[in-house]
Amino acid sequence: MSESAALEEPRSMIRAVTKAYASCLIVAFALLPAYLIAYLFYFQDPALKFENHPFHEIAIAAATIEGLFITYVTWRCYQSSGEPLLRWLTLGFLGFVLIYALHGAFTGMAHHNIWLFLLYGPASRLVMAVLLFVGLLSFDKKPDDAKERKKTSRWWGWIGVFLLIDIAVAAIAYSPFAGHPGVRLSLEGGALLFSTLNVTAMVMRRIRSPLMLIFGISVAAFALSSVAFMLGRPWNHMWWLAHAIFAGGFFLLSYGVVQAFHTTRSFATIYSQEEWMARLAAAMGRTESALQALKRTNQKLEHLAATDSLTGAANRRTFMQRIEAEITRAKREGEAFSLLALDLDNFKAVNDRYGHQVGDEVLQDFVRRCFDAIRPYDGVARVGGEEFMVLLPRSARELAFSIGERLRTAVESSVFESSAGRKVPMTVSIGVAEFGRDGYTIDTILRAADERLYKAKEEGRNRVVAA
Ligand code: GH3
Ligand code: MG
Ligand code: MG
Repeated sequence: MSESAALEEPRSMIRAVTKAYASCLIVAFALLPAYLIAYLFYFQDPALKFENHPFHEIAIAAATIEGLFITYVTWRCYQSSGEPLLRWLTLGFLGFVLIYALHGAFTGMAHHNIWLFLLYGPASRLVMAVLLFVGLLSFDKKPDDAKERKKTSRWWGWIGVFLLIDIAVAAIAYSPFAGHPGVRLSLEGGALLFSTLNVTAMVMRRIRSPLMLIFGISVAAFALSSVAFMLGRPWNHMWWLAHAIFAGGFFLLSYGVVQAFHTTRSFATIYSQEEWMARLAAAMGRTESALQALKRTNQKLEHLAATDSLTGAANRRTFMQRIEAEITRAKREGEAFSLLALDLDNFKAVNDRYGHQVGDEVLQDFVRRCFDAIRPYDGVARVGGEEFMVLLPRSARELAFSIGERLRTAVESSVFESSAGRKVPMTVSIGVAEFGRDGYTIDTILRAADERLYKAKEEGRNRVVAA
């Protein structure tokens, strides 16, 4: 096993263990209501009651307002993303509110017709559980198109269905078999069944997005509230606990809706933290490589701006900057430097005889030879058509002269050859100037170098003049 693999091993194990641990925590958290139910079931007298009508009415009124609010927010999310799950979720909330409100409204009827009071509770939970389950089945389905989202007729149709259910529940409450235990049990049991199916389907489909996790925990709370309702009796503590568990689930689910509203307005496309981390890392990688590319481009641009495109020698502007820097350095360190001014001899004749193209190639070749002849830190610049300069740091005139001589003989002794095979003999005239001895400013030393170059031409070309 390689060393890095040995280092990887425990890390991937701890990853697996922490993942499993997190899953256990989620299950343990989702089952929180179950502990409370067990606690009441085993430790409290089920005959103990807390019958408080105003409290019940206020609680249900608050639930109705909260339910309408969250129905609206869910509907807004649906309008924006068109996610079918959100359509069913909107309907689930709306159906719940329209049926459950009557459970509160008929609180006062508890002693006249207990069923009219009681049955709206399980009926509302059953309707919501069924709609949420259908919603889950549509998870990941493609979004409804904009026209379909806008259709109001469908919503009114559903409101009609919910009102019919309200009437049906009242009819059952006044029917002779209203008190049959099977009625309440089948409504509550139905709610339990659909909520359980819902959670099971989520687990089996391995739906793991953060908002769906909230959805799953909420639905688990709804299932457990149905268990508590079945175990409870009207007004006793298990019955109140059942309300609280249901409310907890409802609040949690509404939290999920609000999260969706503030982000993607969808339950399916909220990414997990892990996905975000991976996306972030990828984005940072892309930024980094873009920066590198930009740096390379900048370097290329800088190089292009500093050099002459035909020959690759420094251009005039860059060369002047280098001389300025060299003057500063020479003054600080009290050391000399020199300049060579070079001009190819009778270059016009080269153009005339061989053509401009060959002339260009000669210029390129000439610069290559200059670079070969000078030291690495000496700079060659093209300052005119066939005029060049060489900067020689730390060189007094005598050394500069001998470097100039070397250059001159290198040019003289080699024949320039064009790509078309034309052989072109070439010579160069050179003027030398030294900082200090010939002046202390750019102008004076450049002028001195130029004057000596002119003198070299005068004296017959193909020579170096240093004084
Ligand atoms: P000398 O310097 O020896 O007095 O003679 P010369 O013929 O070199 O003199 P002059 O400075 O008058 O001519 C320079 C010629 O260089 C003129 C021009 O056609 C040519 N030249 C300038 N720039 C370029 C270039 O980029 N490419 C080519 N092929 N020729 C160029
Ligand atoms: Mg010339
Ligand atoms: Mg010239």
